[in-house]
Amino acid sequence: MSKKWIVVGEIRDGEFRHVSFEAIAAVKSIDSNNEVVGVLLGENISDFDKTMFAYGADRVLKVEHPDLQQYTPDAYSQALMQVIESEEPEGVLMGHTSIGRDLLPKVASKCGTGLVSDFVSVEVVGEETIFTRPIYSGKAFEKKAITDGKIFATLRPNNISALEKDESRDGDVSTLDVNIKDLRTTIKEVVKNTTSGVDLSEAKTIVSGGRGLKSAENFQLLDDLAEVLGAAVGASRGACDAEYCDYALQIGQTGKVVTPDLYIAVGLSGAIQHVAGMSNSKVIVAINKDPEAEIFKIADYGIVGDLFEVIPILTEALRQELV
Ligand code: FAD
Repeated sequence: MSKKWIVVGEIRDGEFRHVSFEAIAAVKSIDSNNEVVGVLLGENISDFDKTMFAYGADRVLKVEHPDLQQYTPDAYSQALMQVIESEEPEGVLMGHTSIGRDLLPKVASKCGTGLVSDFVSVEVVGEETIFTRPIYSGKAFEKKAITDGKIFATLRPNNISALEKDESRDGDVSTLDVNIKDLRTTIKEVVKNTTSGVDLSEAKTIVSGGRGLKSAENFQLLDDLAEVLGAAVGASRGACDAEYCDYALQIGQTGKVVTPDLYIAVGLSGAIQHVAGMSNSKVIVAINKDPEAEIFKIADYGIVGDLFEVIPILTEALRQELV
């Protein structure tokens, strides 16, 4: 039987997080007849509803309020609670982004229920909706079966393909007036991190550097390669600890978890804590001068060599090919 689901569309800096569309596809993969209500929270949410329809939403509900201009847990959770009370969906999904991780557990607990965090796939078997999620830093997967009650879940980016974009799709757009009060937080200033152009957690290609880079200046080599590939730049904690780059770039157990199509690991050893954050990448290329480096054990392709020789050659060859 088809069910109604809410997918919270996340917009950052005027652009959708792609995982919002992957969440729509997740609902449709459970049952293509499921109704997806795309919920947009913010202020002046102009034409974003059209993009949600193009990726498969059946309806869009806009909630506009001055207090929703910037994300705050207080304001967003109050608004989303009122949406849930008015829509009474079976489930609420959003991306496992920094906002998703903050907002959805809060709202789930207000609704007196739990949350499946960071799932990578979902299926329905009989009466059960079964979510699969990585545990033990990606070394094992657990299945969580939900049989009744409202479902709240956050989807790890880059694991479920979004539906093909179809601009001819359309649907009803409605609005909901919400009452937001007693805010405990106000945003005075947003300081943007300028170290990375492409968002790491959603990047399709990542060039990641380790202590082998030897200096902050040498990270420019990775920036050049990343620019040619349209990639994001990541790093090991070794590189961050050595102050070669900002901690915002750290990938691993205590950094970001990424699942790009292509992960190029440069001058990093492949410590277990690093691998925990990138082992689910579809294709892993390792460049390291030590043939015994752990990273080669999980790499699909390896280049044993000095990165200071290999990277400029690779960048130039790709520039000839791609640019
Ligand atoms: P190294 O281990 O020093 O490796 C440098 C590599 O560069 C070597 O393999 C070397 O052969 C190669 N190299 C050197 N020069 C060249 C050259 N010219 N050309 C080619 N290759 C070269 N680490 C993370 O990354 N992410 C985490 O989230 C994380 N969380 C942690 C949590 C805890 C609780 C702990 C204890 C540790 C954590 N670590 C994490 C740290 C982790 O254990 C490693 O210390 C770290 O990943 C090592 O960084 P690295 O690979 O850059 O450095």
